[in-house]
Order: sequence, then C-alpha cells, then structure tokens
Amino acid sequence: MKSHAKVVVIGGGVVGCSVLFHLARHGWTDVVLLERDELTSGSTWHAAGGMHTINGDPNVAKLQKYTISLYKEIEELSGQATGVHLTGGVLLAATEARLDWLRGVVAKGRYLGIDLEVISPKEAAELMPLLDPRQFVGAVRNKEDGHLDPSGVTHAYAKAARKLGAEVERFTKVEDIVRRADGMWRVITNKGEVVAEHVVNAGGLWAREVGRMVGLELPVLAMEHMYLITEDMPEVAAWNARTGTEIMHAVDFDGELYLRQERGGMLMGTYEKANKPWSEFQTPWNFGHELLAPDIDRIAPSLEVGFRHFPAFEKTGIKQIINGPFTFAPDGNPLVGPVRGLPGFWVACGVMAGFSQGGGVGLALSNWMIEGDPGADIWAMDVARYGDWATMAYTNAKVRENYSRRFSIRFPNEELPAGRPLKTTPVYDLLSAKGAQWGVAYGLEVPLWYAPAGVEDEFSWRRSSDFTHVANEVKTVRTGVGLSEISSFAKYRVTGEGAAAWLDRLLACKLPKPGRMTLAPMLKEDGRLIGDFTLANLGGDGWFLAGSGVAEQYHMRWFEKHLPDEGSVRIEALGQKLTGLSIAGPKARDVLAKATRWDVSNAAFPFMAIARMDMGMAPCLVGRVSYTGDLGYEMWVAPEYQRAAFQTLMAAGEEFGIGLFGSRALNALRLEKNYGSWAREYRPIYGPLEAGLDRFVAYGKEADFIGKAGALAERKQGGKLRLRAFIVDADDADVIGDEPIWFGGAVRGWVTSGGYAHHSKKSVAVGYVPKEIAEESDGFEIELLGKRHAARIQAAPLFDANFERMRG
Ligand SMILES: Cc1cc2nc3c(=O)[nH]c(=O)nc-3n(C[C@H](O)[C@H](O)[C@H](O)COP(=O)(O)OP(=O)(O)OC[C@H]3O[C@@H](n4cnc5c(N)ncnc54)[C@H](O)[C@@H]3O)c2cc1C
Repeated sequence: MKSHAKVVVIGGGVVGCSVLFHLARHGWTDVVLLERDELTSGSTWHAAGGMHTINGDPNVAKLQKYTISLYKEIEELSGQATGVHLTGGVLLAATEARLDWLRGVVAKGRYLGIDLEVISPKEAAELMPLLDPRQFVGAVRNKEDGHLDPSGVTHAYAKAARKLGAEVERFTKVEDIVRRADGMWRVITNKGEVVAEHVVNAGGLWAREVGRMVGLELPVLAMEHMYLITEDMPEVAAWNARTGTEIMHAVDFDGELYLRQERGGMLMGTYEKANKPWSEFQTPWNFGHELLAPDIDRIAPSLEVGFRHFPAFEKTGIKQIINGPFTFAPDGNPLVGPVRGLPGFWVACGVMAGFSQGGGVGLALSNWMIEGDPGADIWAMDVARYGDWATMAYTNAKVRENYSRRFSIRFPNEELPAGRPLKTTPVYDLLSAKGAQWGVAYGLEVPLWYAPAGVEDEFSWRRSSDFTHVANEVKTVRTGVGLSEISSFAKYRVTGEGAAAWLDRLLACKLPKPGRMTLAPMLKEDGRLIGDFTLANLGGDGWFLAGSGVAEQYHMRWFEKHLPDEGSVRIEALGQKLTGLSIAGPKARDVLAKATRWDVSNAAFPFMAIARMDMGMAPCLVGRVSYTGDLGYEMWVAPEYQRAAFQTLMAAGEEFGIGLFGSRALNALRLEKNYGSWAREYRPIYGPLEAGLDRFVAYGKEADFIGKAGALAERKQGGKLRLRAFIVDADDADVIGDEPIWFGGAVRGWVTSGGYAHHSKKSVAVGYVPKEIAEESDGFEIELLGKRHAARIQAAPLFDANFERMRG
C-alpha cells in the first residue's frame, strides 16, 4: 500500500468505487480506495439492483439520468459486465391524487429530457401483464427504468478506475483518521498508514462510524429492507416466450411496492409502514456478507395489496426473502460534499439508491474536489443542508418517517410531523395561542398561517382550507399593518479590522455606509450566484448579514473557506442567538413610532436605514426593509427579549388593527413585488444577470470581488436565461415550483416558485426562460396538474411598481 496519496476514498461499495472512477477519469490518478473486506461488503451486495430516473428533486433526477447513461461506458472501459437490463417501467396510480402527482412528474420530465407518458390502466396492463387494470386509475410509462447486477457495476467502476491509474486496497480497514498540523490527513489502517490531502467518507453502512473518527456525527441511519423472490411463474414464462422481452418494472405507489422480473419469477420489494431501523447507535464492524432475519409479518399488509393488484402472485410460492440494511439521511437524499470545518474531508454517504444515484454522486464530488465546484445544482444532496440540530434522535425519527412515506404523496401544503417541534423561539406558545400552523425550516418551527379554531390544512394539490385565511392576512398587511416572526433567517456578525476589505472581496455589491443596508449578491469564481444577503454596516459594531436560513451551514462553509489566515476577520452565525420580528404595511411606521422613543420619521429613518432602538424596554436592531415590498421594518432581538418586543409591538399596534401573518402570506406578498429567494430563484447555476440581481452587482467597484470576471463576461455575453414573473390563467390550483413553461408548442423553461398573490388577485409563477423569448409578453403556457394554462410575463411588479409605499 502506498504511504502517500492525493485522495483516500474509504469504502468499496458502489458509491466509493464511483467516486474513485470519477476522480481518475477527471485526471486525479494518485488516488487509492481502502476497503475493509471484499468490494461490495456493505449494503451494495444484496441490493435489488433497480434503477430509475425519477426523483422529487429535478436536479437529482438529472444526476440519476447521468448515472444510468454511464453504465455502458464503464462496461466498455472495464471489460466487466454490469448486467444492465433496460426493461422500461410503469408507475401505477390507484387514486386520483396519485395520478395528479404523476402528472407533475411527467411535466418535470419534459424539461429534464426524461421521456415519460401518462397511459391508461388498460395500456399499462398491456405493457406489464401481471397487473390487474381494475385496481388502478392511471399510470406513467418510463423508458429509462431497469435493473442491473450490483456487484458487476461496482467491480466495473473499480476496474475502470484501476485502468486509469487508481489503486484499490481490499482487506484494509481504516481505524482512525487524524488531521496533521500541516492540514494533511493521516489515514490509519490495520495495514499501516496513508497520508492524504483529501479523504472521502464513502463508508455506507459505516459512514457514521467513519465520521466519528474525525468528530463528526453524520445524520444517517440504516433501515432494514426486504424484498421477496418468487418461484418461477407460468405467466412470466408465457410473456417472455410471446414477446421475447422481460416483464417490465412496476412501481405500485399505493401498495408501496416495486416489482421486476428475477430469472423465471418476480422480485417484489416494499417500503413497509412498520419499518425497523438497524444498528441505531453503532454499526458492528464484523457485519459483512450476512443477511438479516426476514420478518414477513412486517410486510404482510403491503403484500396483501400486492396480491390484489398483481393476482398471479397469489398462486405462486415465495422462494426467498432478502432482508438487508441500507442507510438514509433524514430526507432520503444523499449527503455529499465538503464538510464545514474539516478542510479536505468529504462525504459521499446516505445514498439510498446507489444504482440510480452513485454515478451522479461520483461526478459531482469529483468535480467539486478537482474544480472547486460540483458543476451541477446539488443542493438537494449537499451535506451542508443539515446543521447540528440533525441529532441522532432527530435523524432516527425522520428516517423512519421518510422510509414509511417513501411511496406516499407529499402534498405541497403538507408538513411532516416527525422530529418536531425541535427548535422553537420564545414566542412559539404566544403564536400557537393565536392559531399558528407550523412548518419547519432548518429545524426551526416557523408560522405558516393562522387558523381560526377548528380549521386546519386540508392537504391538496389545489387551493385549500388556508386560502381565505391567508388572503385575510395579506389584506391586513396591505391595508393596515401585520406582524410576522422572522427568526428563521440566517444572521451573521462580521467583525475585525479586516472585515470591510474582506466583505468587499466576498460580496459583489458596493458596501453600504454606516447605518445603511444594501442587497448583497455573493458570487462563485465562475461568476454565478452562491448567495444573496442583506448587508448592514453597523459602524463601530461591525457588519450584519441576513440571508437564507436553510443555507446557514452552506454559507458558513463558504465564508470560512475564504477567511484570511491572519485572523483579521471574524464571522459568527448567530442562529437563534438572535431572533426576529417584522412589521409591515402602511401603518407600520405608526406602530413603530408608538413602540419606541426613537425618531422613525421617513427623514430620520429612511428606506434601508438600520439602527439600534428599544421596543418598549427590549433592545433591538431595527432595519427599514421588508420582504413584503411594503413599508416595513425588521427587528432583530436577543431571544430573552423577543417576548417583550412582541408584546410591545402588539400592544402598540392594537389601535391600528395589527394582525399576525405567516410565511404563506409573505410568499403571496413577495410574489407581487417580483422578489426572489435563495434556493428557489437564486441558485448556483444562475448568473446575476440571468437572475435579475445584476442591478445589485457593483461591476465597476475597485475591489476584485470573487466572480468579478465571470460576472463581467456574463454581462457582455448576456447569459442564457432570464428570470421572469408570469401571470397564470389558473383556476383552482397555483404553481408550486418545477412546472414546465411552454412557448411556441415546446417546453422552454421551468418554474422556480409561485402561488396566489391575494392582494393583486392573480396567480403568479416565477421561472427561467431562454433570454431569446424573455421579452415576449404573450404566448406562454404553464403546465399545472396535466393541463396547460395561458401565462403572460409581468415585467413590472404587480404592487407598488414605483416604490412609493416601500420608500415613502
Ligand atoms: C435489500 C436492499 C435492496 C436494495 N435495492 C436497491 C435497488 O434496487 N436499487 C438501488 O439503487 N439501491 C438499492 N439498495 C440500496 C443500495 O444497496 C445502496 O444505495 C448502496 O449499496 C449504497 O452503497 P455505498 O457504497 O454507499 O455503501 P455500502 O455498500 O455500505 O459500502 C460501504 C463500503 O465501505 C466499506 N467500509 C466502511 N467502513 C470502512 C472502513 N473503516 N475501512 C474500510 N472500508 C470501510 C464497507 O466494507 C463497504 O464495503 C438496496 C439495499 C438493500 C439493503
């Protein structure tokens, strides 16, 4: 074994081997994979080997498509058969709600280049002869669906990597990982030590244990998973003989089942409700090629549905039941990327669909390591989407929930209950008493809307029980004054003598003067977006940044990577050490003037000013800005004062009819101002010009800010896309995000977010289209629940286009 390597990859499952292959293919050949046993000694060997392109997140779906397209290449490169059978598949709906969901999947497929088609149950039965069409209301046909040989694929990656110069050391167990003073990693094994610049944790079932070697508690948990293999079935033999093809794959969502042909019989797997975690605290090191004891009682309810939906199973014997463990992150998507605070330590774990996702994970990670950027939008898989709130018990609750809901519909207005409430702010009970309906963002409970007694969300794809109540909240803001809790924003304090120069280099905007704020896009080296913030200059108190709450860890990783070594700049993520309240609406100033002794007149405290003032007795930092696009103020307050500040504002607002509003009303309000938000409109695949944030980029500023050259090039060339707001002729449903935008009879763009703008009484969609058609006003259509609705670009904001309310 070599003593030094550029990269050590820990784990020879499908994911580690894919990472190794991609590193070598991209030119890093001084790379070695360490595997404690034979390759495939984790969850890989007993996988059912199914693969498909469908994923709830379009960006992950793209990587799944890439993974499937890769198998031919690695087979040719390695000379190792992968056993790929592209059978095609049917996704089955037994209810109308499921069919609505599938229509959304088909729509997304249109701009992802995934060939999907809605078909009738009869057509589905013609393709997949074992199903009983009377049990279904519709189906979707997917051509890119099939299965493969898990061991063959893993060895093909490893052999191809070896051919390119990478090394694989089997029977080499990593026992410890130690960071040296010079930043290199000592990877200590039972056979000696390798010193490496980078370490990749692809430890699969042991990823948690490998993480612990460097003090990291990764939010992953293994679950037991069962599939059965039947005796040979005459129906299968007849179909094979008649058509010369294998039986097609099927996913039966309502039965929570997946099926495929296995030799002369069938394989049927299930994500059962009565699920069971495996090795909740510690994965035993001596676990290897053994299986877990099957427990047919646990999967019996799913099998019952399966026998009804696929009657031939009832007459067939079960040959074998496989029960094996594999890992999940709380939301079921992989954990990939560099780990904040551990330079050179990377993860590629929690991959629950290694044969659909392994290639994409390897590609993204190798790009990231070699080029400094994953080369795709992989937010849905980024390890930084979790913070320290994703504890072991939280992960346990969420993974179990996710497993049991793997084939369940999640409606756009549906909040999942497991692992909650975890983080709450001091006004939580006060807001609950007012009827707050809670959602969650980055582990924190956030008020979505306020329901009268006896009313709650009815889960639906369409406008639902909250509609009129959210409309009332919007009315309160636009005609009077509303108060909302805004603690879920990420807040950062930047101090030190080097702070101004550092921010000037990090952010693309002009730095504001003391007592002022500005909008601050942050760019990557390639000139695309990596953040958008409100930046405030607090004079002698340093700088204050507010940004996307869910991206706190993501942004801290970026900030820390760029901090100067000499310690002249300090940045702290304030999390819930600072909570927030906001008031907005034409009467917001009257309320503020009553709550504080400070002069808050427009002259003394204009738009984008920031100052310390007390709300009653509670000390706050108050900024004159509001995401509602109305006259408004954001107040930042230490948690011990939040209740006092809240009560003061509510009391001051009484005579002005103050009311509470939640994030659904906020969404309706920001939509009519064409305001975008991070992780929806603003993502690392868009340039500032494309995203309409170019007006906040100080292209001419002296500082050589990160991404300046890329941003200038984008401005010169004009980028490819444009973000636009559309008014949709919708009837009883509004867009959620990820719907296709049609123009001239073809899909030309996609929706990033939207909803109903209650004040303007318009259904609004926001999304990207090619710049060539971005100046057209008419001729667009947006596909919603399988139906195309006419849409028009709305260039000027629907509300306060001249900024009179906001600045007045
Ligand atoms: C019953 C079942 C059915 C499944 N069906 C499918 C399916 O149809 N399609 C699909 O895509 N996925 C399926 N999966 C999931 C799939 O198996 C996983 O997504 C995949 O195996 C994950 O691969 P991995 O490389 O991340 O982890 P693993 O396969 O667990 O590999 C990790 C490797 O790391 C090694 N290792 C760990 N720690 C160390 C150390 N300290 N030193 C050295 N080596 C170490 C281990 O020995 C192991 O070989 C199924 C899983 C099960 C259990």
